[in-house]
Amino acid sequence: MGKALIIGCGGVASVAAHKCCQNSEVFDEIMIASRTKSKCDALKEKLDGGKTKVTTAQVDADKVEELIPLIESFKPDVVMNLALPYQDLTIMEACLATKTNYLDTANYEPPETAKFEYKWQWAYHDKFKDAGLTALLGSGFDPGVTGVFAAYAQKHLFDEIHEIDILDCNAGDHGYPFATNFNPEINIREVTANGRYWENGKWVETKPMEIKRVYDFPEIGERDMYLLYHEELESLAKNIRGLKRIRFFMTFSESYLTHLRCLQNVGMTSIEPIMFEGRPIIPLQFLKAVLPDPASLGPRTKGKTNIGCIFKGVKDGKEKTYYIYNVCDHQECYKEVGAQAVSYTTGVPAMIGAMMLMTGKWDKPGVYNVEEFDPDPFMDALNKWGLPWKIVENPEIVD
Ligand code: NDP
Repeated sequence: MGKALIIGCGGVASVAAHKCCQNSEVFDEIMIASRTKSKCDALKEKLDGGKTKVTTAQVDADKVEELIPLIESFKPDVVMNLALPYQDLTIMEACLATKTNYLDTANYEPPETAKFEYKWQWAYHDKFKDAGLTALLGSGFDPGVTGVFAAYAQKHLFDEIHEIDILDCNAGDHGYPFATNFNPEINIREVTANGRYWENGKWVETKPMEIKRVYDFPEIGERDMYLLYHEELESLAKNIRGLKRIRFFMTFSESYLTHLRCLQNVGMTSIEPIMFEGRPIIPLQFLKAVLPDPASLGPRTKGKTNIGCIFKGVKDGKEKTYYIYNVCDHQECYKEVGAQAVSYTTGVPAMIGAMMLMTGKWDKPGVYNVEEFDPDPFMDALNKWGLPWKIVENPEIVD
């Protein structure tokens, strides 16, 4: 049916490439292009021959002038940006120049400040609309599936949603004292930033990890979780009608937090350059180089993830509460595609998002977040492609 260009070749891209190859009815051909071509070639070797044709290329996605000829030569129906958030704007520019649809899993962040905001990408709305192209933002799990769950709840379960709590629990154990499950730089920037949630039309800021709750996660059990700012709060606060409050919680173990505190205290998580042996280095990037590569955690990680949303609102004049979630098993993911569940839960929705665009099920020119489309075909695809979901009425709620 069509062609997808995958940019980046880390944990998430690897899962997405496996899933595209499993779905050869939609993906006739994929190209995997990244900074380090040898990684793309190694991934190509691992992909099951199947019917999907796979090619690889080298590209520096910070450079629009390198992206344009690559996209022009391959002529994909969609570019799947699975590199890092720093590359979002250059890849969007290249998509506009080549008249190609765009998808990503994380919103743009300027490299010099840890600041997640959609404003830079939303500013492209008119340009994409005028060109008749779609840019689908945040088609991972969170953001991504959490937004699709919200759109589903809005469409089928409520007349009005008043409160959303997004709960992200990773109960996987990789056996290392400290490692991050996805890109360490992005992960640490996220968790060391101030917390923030949205209530009654305003943002309320908290200190990092200031708000803690304990939650009994289905199929996992009780875990400590902490309120963080997460990018989908911004788009959902705008797109879900009647919303009064939205928060995001993520689980962390005591050991993870103790290591992080220590690294922060000695300055290792800083993104301010320092001089080291006569040249400037960024401590957080140096830390990334000494931490285990997230892609190497796959074979070691045991346990499950549970990510979902608790919705409170009103249907036919009655108060209702629902919890929609997915549980994913690290070892099962590893058996299937050679990656742990954090990469799996992101790579599968990236493939599904690309499929929605390529099959025309999601067809709306402009720059949009996932919750702005019909959730039904995406929800069906989640069940089919490895991320089945459950709905529970009257779950335990978070105070
Ligand atoms: P990795 O660090 O494993 O992979 C990133 C890849 O991007 C690497 O292959 C890297 O190349 C490549 N890359 C980086 N810079 C460039 C560049 N300038 N040009 C070309 N390629 C480049 O990250 P993950 O796979 O864990 O994460 C991928 C994305 O998914 C991130 O944006 C992350 O924030 C997002 N994410 C989203 C989630 C969600 O639920 N929505 C959850 C988890 C992640 P090299 O190999 O040379 O370093």
